[in-house]
Amino acid sequence: MPSALEKLVKILRLEQEQGNKNTAVIGGLKRFADTWVQEGHEQARKPEHHTLVDELHRLIAEYEAIKDRTERRRAVQFMLDRITNRVPPRADMASPQRQEPAQEAPPGDLPSADADDESEDDDGEYDLPLPAARPVRTASRHVRDAHRAVRRPSLEEALEVLREFDHDVTALHRVGKSMAEKLARLGVNTIGDLLFFFPRRYDDYTRMKPINRLVPGEVVTLIGTVQKVTVRPLSGGRNLTEATVSDGSGRITLRWFNQPWLRNKLKRGTQITVWGKVDLYLGRPTVTNPEWELLERDNLFGGSIAPVYPLTKGITSRTMRRMMQQTLGKWAERIPDYMPVGTLERTELCDLGWALEQIHFPDSWENLDEARTRLVFDELLLLQMGVLAHRRDWQAVQGVPLAVDDAWLDAFLGALPYELTGAQRRALDEILADMAQGVPMNRLLQGDVGSGKTVVAAAAMAVAVANGAQTALMAPTGILAEQHFRGVSRLLAAGPVGDKINVHLLTGATPAETRNMIYSGLADGSLNVVIGTHALIQSGLEFKNLGLAVIDEQHRFGVEQRGALRGKGTNPHLLVMTATPIPRTLALTLYADLDLSVIDEMPPGRTPIDTKVLMPAERERAFAFVRHEIKKGRQAFVIYPYVESVEDEETEDAGKAEMSAVQRAEFLQKEVFPDLRVGLLHGQLRPDEKDAVMGQFAAGDIDILVATSVVEVGIDVPNASVMLIEGAERFGLAQLHQFRGRVGRGAYASYCLLLAGEQLTPDAVERLRAMEATTDGFKLAEIDWRMRGPGDLLGTRQAGTGVLHLVEL
Ligand code: ADP
Ligand code: MG
Repeated sequence: MPSALEKLVKILRLEQEQGNKNTAVIGGLKRFADTWVQEGHEQARKPEHHTLVDELHRLIAEYEAIKDRTERRRAVQFMLDRITNRVPPRADMASPQRQEPAQEAPPGDLPSADADDESEDDDGEYDLPLPAARPVRTASRHVRDAHRAVRRPSLEEALEVLREFDHDVTALHRVGKSMAEKLARLGVNTIGDLLFFFPRRYDDYTRMKPINRLVPGEVVTLIGTVQKVTVRPLSGGRNLTEATVSDGSGRITLRWFNQPWLRNKLKRGTQITVWGKVDLYLGRPTVTNPEWELLERDNLFGGSIAPVYPLTKGITSRTMRRMMQQTLGKWAERIPDYMPVGTLERTELCDLGWALEQIHFPDSWENLDEARTRLVFDELLLLQMGVLAHRRDWQAVQGVPLAVDDAWLDAFLGALPYELTGAQRRALDEILADMAQGVPMNRLLQGDVGSGKTVVAAAAMAVAVANGAQTALMAPTGILAEQHFRGVSRLLAAGPVGDKINVHLLTGATPAETRNMIYSGLADGSLNVVIGTHALIQSGLEFKNLGLAVIDEQHRFGVEQRGALRGKGTNPHLLVMTATPIPRTLALTLYADLDLSVIDEMPPGRTPIDTKVLMPAERERAFAFVRHEIKKGRQAFVIYPYVESVEDEETEDAGKAEMSAVQRAEFLQKEVFPDLRVGLLHGQLRPDEKDAVMGQFAAGDIDILVATSVVEVGIDVPNASVMLIEGAERFGLAQLHQFRGRVGRGAYASYCLLLAGEQLTPDAVERLRAMEATTDGFKLAEIDWRMRGPGDLLGTRQAGTGVLHLVEL
């Protein structure tokens, strides 16, 4: 890069780092511009170089007249982008190029300031923009090409940047220990984490409409001033908060259920930004349960598209945006792009640094699309590469073959309380064929809720024991681990290894004494089967010879945890199980390191679960039905939606939403079912408390279990025949399907009642009707996908594992 440009880049970056106060050079940028322009022209050797120098001169000169800091930051960024040729010139700058160079141009390219640095010479990576040489393009094409020039920093510079990515977030200006702890709750620990912590949506200030022009059914961002707020009680212990907001053109009503504390937040006269879907309620425009935040003035300038990040208590939108701007300002410009230039050209992908800037602060929706495409591409590519490399490493090592003969298998199957279905048998055969090899098995067993995966796993575990190896089963919750402990122990005890097994349960709630006993038993080999939770992957726990590791509901675990359990043995065979219905092609991409077995058939004799969608007015009927079933000796689940909408600093929604499940349980116990036993299960109970409640329900000591989505996975209580889901439209179909799978597990006719809440829209009704129409998890996932996007399928849980931030399929 010619030294004049290089100098300018340094100054611009400094200016950015110093917070755009026009202090990067003494006397201000404008004065500097006048000396710089001469130097620039002296070094320029081609017509287009002169054009750029003039253009930059004008931009620098205009800079100090800009009053707003955000605008200034943009202006500097734009200059930097112009220098690296990532954006086209501003419309008013795209003047016809200078016809004549000021001086006579000697042949050859620009002389480089650092004569000893040859690497930057002539491969065009830092070449100057060539506006005149480019053919005329259509607008969208133009956008795409504009930021194609990719920065290729020197190796040292690249390594330095990557090292900085690993720095703690406290390396940021004004981020201290307490902010770092809050960020950690969002999974953000390092600078790199922060750069890749993407907005969950955007507020579009460029397309904002006045309230009197809103159309029902639209999802909008609007700005208004709070006029008045009221809270009134509703039936069933609930309440409604209503706020009237006006923007001069008209008024709109915002409504929230069960969030009375909002009254203290939404003071009269407060200006807020609101995001949600406009409906008509009693003829007035209304948004129910909108997201909102205090208006940030910065966003109003220049009609920006403002990012909205997932937040946690103590971090406001504003803080997050500021931190992000600071981080991007310092790093995005310098991030090395590891993708070969050829690949980028072929795929028409944009530069990584640019993509990061645009995903956080998009200049337009087109840019956002481009940025997203690039980042999604990277995620999938890296995922695939990582996964394949992993598989190669891992299967290069020798495993221990674990085989049985037909007679043994017949004896085991013969001792089961039922005959395996054809699909179970096929899956088992695939598993046993893998285990008999000297290469460690790495297999995903997929089967809908209730398809009977556990028994297949138990058979594989029995084979391990028959071969003198140890085996472990890990489940995501204590409740499920305990259930497996009872169920699998029984299945193993009945078969040919019945006299050999020594099974124990290890969870977070296991007393220290027992835990020590289990640790030593696993280490010396006297204990050969262990079933538990994350407790199984604690450091310090060692196996003598772990031959088979099984992970149930694997989507609840991260890749690292899978690895951790496997790491407890020397190359054990690995079987992971999931009920998440993922289409096969996708499964192969997401889990490219796994072979796939599918159980696509239900055990015989199941009475199909009768599913009904009920309107809010039918709540009493639903309760009457629950009572009726309990009188017959059955039990029921009542699911209450858990809403997390942490948007504002002191909002304690998370806790309060859980509270609402608590209130709900109290209400049901006191007002509706005073003569029955109502229990409560929610995510904020301690693991031992959860286990205790679940144990009581399983034992029949509780008639009605009020629960949040924690009961979603794996629970098997055959006597439960009713699943009543309140506010059903708030859940994804895949999740509703999982809930429904909690009943119909015994011989009794079972029912799933989907009680709609107040937020019911026509779309929501259609989705819920799909639950009535089919019990096929795959079909439901597909419908969900069509109607709500893949978010539910992959779930927010997957996002937490570090991959798949963005992948939309
Ligand atoms: P999931 O695949 O959801 O983990 P489970 O393994 O918990 O399902 O099995 C669900 C229920 O079906 C259990 O009560 C189990 O005993 C029963 N079951 C499993 N396989 C069969 C079969 N082949 N015939 C009859 N019942 C079965
Ligand atoms: Mg299961």
